[in-house]
Amino acid sequence: MAEASRVEPTNEVRLLADAMLGRLARWLRALGYDTLYDSRLNDRDLARLARTEGRLLLTRDHQLAGSMGLRAVLVQSDRLVGQLSQVLPLLPTPLAAPFGRCVACNGRLEEVDRDSVQARVPEYIWETQQDFALCRQCGRIYWRGSHWEHIRRHLADLGLTLP
Ligand SMILES: [Zn+2]
Repeated sequence: MAEASRVEPTNEVRLLADAMLGRLARWLRALGYDTLYDSRLNDRDLARLARTEGRLLLTRDHQLAGSMGLRAVLVQSDRLVGQLSQVLPLLPTPLAAPFGRCVACNGRLEEVDRDSVQARVPEYIWETQQDFALCRQCGRIYWRGSHWEHIRRHLADLGLTLP
């Protein structure tokens, strides 16, 4: 079984999650980690991507985790809380505030001018929120209130706090 030691102290760690870990992948993206996830990838694809892109593979599969030459973490729990508790301590401190990556597509979020999104978000949101970010890849818009607070609250519920 491959166990990753603490990864380099940079937020540029790149992750790859297997098909069993979709929910974890979305959380890792929200926390700002570059996390590739596509449920259509098979074991061979995953191993190839981990090698060619230098990604740390997160997997529930013993055999895959033990593949020669792969940097991999065998994720022990099938529950999100257990998965986060195992994986987060292995990673550099998240730099997600105020926004991480797009949970839908892993694209980078970019803070955008409030006025530029007025026509694209519900009026109530535009009136009550100050900070907006746009996914450069898929165009999804995020605002701090619903997104970041949601993440913080859920991490707290899980007994996890962000540094
Ligand atoms: Zn996106």
